[in-house]
Amino acid sequence: MTEQSPGKTPAVTCLDELRARVRCWRDAGERVALVPTMGNLHAGHLALVDAARRQADRVVVSIFVNPTQFGPNEDFDAYPRTLEQDLQALGQAGCDMAWCPERQVMYPLDGGFMVKVPAGLADTLCGRYRPGHFDGVASVVLRLFNQVQPDLAVFGEKDFQQLLILRWLARDLSLPIEVHGHPTQRDHDGLALSSRNQYLSDSERAKAPLLHRCLCDLVEGLKAGRDWSSLKDTALSALEKAGLKPQYLVWCSAEDLGPPRPGSPQRLLVAAWLGKARLIDNLPVDP
Ligand code: AMP
Repeated sequence: MTEQSPGKTPAVTCLDELRARVRCWRDAGERVALVPTMGNLHAGHLALVDAARRQADRVVVSIFVNPTQFGPNEDFDAYPRTLEQDLQALGQAGCDMAWCPERQVMYPLDGGFMVKVPAGLADTLCGRYRPGHFDGVASVVLRLFNQVQPDLAVFGEKDFQQLLILRWLARDLSLPIEVHGHPTQRDHDGLALSSRNQYLSDSERAKAPLLHRCLCDLVEGLKAGRDWSSLKDTALSALEKAGLKPQYLVWCSAEDLGPPRPGSPQRLLVAAWLGKARLIDNLPVDP
């Protein structure tokens, strides 16, 4: 069940083997970290592996393109799958094991148990445009937590709503797992790294960094005390003029995605279509 060659991280597909390996580490008193991914790894994912290595003795990266988090008209079939390159990259990054379950291992019962994310967290922002998405994310992450039983798990701030929901999942269900967030890794021009960036044509790719630039300008504007609704209108017009189709642009509480509260952490979040790619990004607003 295990694939191994020099330089590559071994890929485990059998639950018993995963459990046996993790048990060995735990018996030796080692701390285990999990980094959940859908594969097609880039420097953003590898930064999470690096962060995990700094906080644990062993790092497991899961690679699973999770069908339950894709809507019926979304890109599940087209989603890039690059397992061989991923295992090579994980070998270089010092990952101890890649957990690559088949669909029947992840979901033994077809139409099985699912997590229902509370409405306030799931129905806003991305959840409004991707109904059921966060139920799928929470369900697969809970399954991964049960399979791997890590001490901690690392997620990217790039998917900020997802990170927040998973923090609440761990807290609400009293899971004995620390949920860590890691800052968004960006290309040289500010575009957040994403597997979906490869859906962009050359001319779309040239326009895509505008999303991050708008967020930076908005943070500056808010810090200067300018009016949010006119800042927002200007940003949305700039995005539309460049050919992006914004879905949302919000300034909210970084704790519960509700209205921003003075003195507590705040965040700007944006989602926009550009050609075939749905891009998301976010930035903290320091008080
Ligand atoms: P994905 O494979 O897209 O499901 O992402 C797996 C994990 O990597 C999630 O926790 C993402 O938030 C994180 N991630 C994706 N892109 C980035 C990025 N550019 N910087 C940091 N983390 C990222």
